[in-house]
Amino acid sequence: MDKLELKFKQTLEKIKLNKKDKILVALSGGKDSTVTAYLLKKFDYNVEGFHIDLGMGDYSKKCLNSVKELCEKYDIKLHLYDIKKEMGNSMCYIRTAIQTTTGKGLKNCAICGVIKKWIMNREARKLKVDEIATGHNLDDEVQTFLMNILKGSPQLSANSGAITQNVKDKKFITRIKPLFYVAENDVREYSKKMKLPVVYEHCPCAFDSYRIQMRQFTNDLTTKEKENIIKNFDNLSENIQKLKTSEELHYCEKCGEPSRNKICKMCQLMKIK
Ligand code: AMP
Ligand code: ZN
Repeated sequence: MDKLELKFKQTLEKIKLNKKDKILVALSGGKDSTVTAYLLKKFDYNVEGFHIDLGMGDYSKKCLNSVKELCEKYDIKLHLYDIKKEMGNSMCYIRTAIQTTTGKGLKNCAICGVIKKWIMNREARKLKVDEIATGHNLDDEVQTFLMNILKGSPQLSANSGAITQNVKDKKFITRIKPLFYVAENDVREYSKKMKLPVVYEHCPCAFDSYRIQMRQFTNDLTTKEKENIIKNFDNLSENIQKLKTSEELHYCEKCGEPSRNKICKMCQLMKIK
C-alpha cells in the first residue's frame, strides 16, 4: 500500500472511525479535502460531499467545477451550499462589511473560517451525519499548534487532534482530520499521481493571515521535524486539555448553534439582532 494511504488508514484506526458512520467531507476543491474524500471512498466509508460556493468570482467557479468532477467520477453524493443564495451576498462582500463594522482589524481568513465552520456544523446536522471530515494536513496542524504557543495560549489547541476533543453534544458534529499526520507535500504529490481534479492555486483573499507567516517558517522544516512537533502535541494533549478554562457548551442565544459563549462568534460578527 502507498505510504500516504497507510498513514491515512492508521489515523482512521487510531480515532476508531466506524465504517457505518455517515461522513460528510467538507470539500473546498483543493488537494487536501479532495484526497480525503477520494481515500474515504476508496476504503469503503459511507461518504458524502459538502461544498460551500463562496461566490468569489473565477476562483470559486474553478473550485465548484473540481468538486463536481470529483463527486461525479467517484460516485459521491454532493451537497451544495450557495452563500449568495443562502446569505444574500458573496464571502468577499460579507467579509468586507464585517471588517468595516463589527470585526475591525480581523484578518480575512479568520472571518471566513468562523462563517464556514458555522455553516458546516448547521448543514451537517440537518443532513444527520455522524462526522465532518476536513482536509487539514500535518503542515496545517503544526502551524496551528505553533501559532497558539507563540500567542501564549496553548489551551487553544485543546480541541485539536485527528478527532475533535469537545464535550459530546447533540448539536455539535464531531470533526475528523484523516490527513492529520500527512505532510502537505505528500498530499500534493499523491493528488497529482492519482490525477484528481484539484484547484492548486490559493484563495485570492488569503494573503494577510498570521498562518501565512507561519507557513513560511514551517516550509523550512523537514517532514521529520514537523512529525516531531505533532508528536509533542499528542504527548502533551492530556495536559493541554487541563488548561481549558471552561468546558461548558452553551447554545447561542441568537442562532441556537453550540458555542462557548452566550452569543456565538458568527452572531457576534454578523451582529444578528
Ligand atoms: P481552510 O480553512 O481554507 O484552510 O480549509 C480547511 C478545510 O475546510 C479544508 O480542508 C476543507 O475540508 C474545508 N473547506 C474549506 N473551504 C471550503 C468550502 N468552500 N466548502 C467546503 N469545505 C471547505
Ligand atoms: Zn449564533
